[in-house]
Amino acid sequence: MPPELQRIGLVHSCFREKFGIPRQPGLVAEARAEIEILPPFDRDEAFSGLDSFSHIWVIFVFHQCQTENGQGQWKATVRPPRLGGNQRVGVFASRSTFRPNPLGLSVVKFEGMARRQGKLYAQISGVDLLDGTPVLDIKPYLPYADSLAGARSGYAPQAPPSQGRLRFSEQAQAQCQQFARDYPGGHAALYRLIEGLLRLDPRPAYRRNTQDRSERYAMRLLDFDLHWELRGDDIHVLVLAQVDGDSTG
Ligand code: SAM
Repeated sequence: MPPELQRIGLVHSCFREKFGIPRQPGLVAEARAEIEILPPFDRDEAFSGLDSFSHIWVIFVFHQCQTENGQGQWKATVRPPRLGGNQRVGVFASRSTFRPNPLGLSVVKFEGMARRQGKLYAQISGVDLLDGTPVLDIKPYLPYADSLAGARSGYAPQAPPSQGRLRFSEQAQAQCQQFARDYPGGHAALYRLIEGLLRLDPRPAYRRNTQDRSERYAMRLLDFDLHWELRGDDIHVLVLAQVDGDSTG
């Protein structure tokens, strides 16, 4: 075993809390992040050649699921959301964040390397990564080896459905315009991000199984709290409320 794994980078993403993050990468193309490459790994030559790849694997630590001594919190069986949250499978038959070693693995779109104020960043999109996530490694995605035609995928045979129509309150519409001023890609891109996330229905599986659709939900995204509720098939975006204070991102 390697005596001590080293962080090679730190994620800065639009996701400031676990709730609402897509459960796998690639589900919301607009979900962007940067991996800040940490010294002594922040050398341009360490990434030379990577720009000819469209996607990369990111190996990372589920840092918000660690015990105080850095180990994973785990149980032998877990209840995947894809099974409605009430059927158990073995932890090693799942992509649960609660594992003996709290390691995650995501294939994401690689948008390129950038250097700003001396720091080196890998820009990525389609992420399922929390802001502040420590990164252990980056590797190019190799379709000939990593994409297997005819592979079986048990209880998760296809991507979760994206459903519902988005309706913005007048207040949320105005707030979205305002936050979009600082968002790369502007209003259309921010709208796509919000739409992509909410149409995946981030509610916990046990809530989805109830008939009661009246509850109001909120997730922290970028520098605001996004509040919404469901009315029939419509997803009503109520408020985008500014959050005060710094984050790690
Ligand atoms: N694609 C990865 C994998 O399969 O290993 C992650 C899958 S995991 C089910 C994705 C969820 O992990 C996200 O929805 C988010 O709630 C959570 N997550 C993301 N980054 C995290 C972190 N640094 N610490 C704890 N949980 C995290």
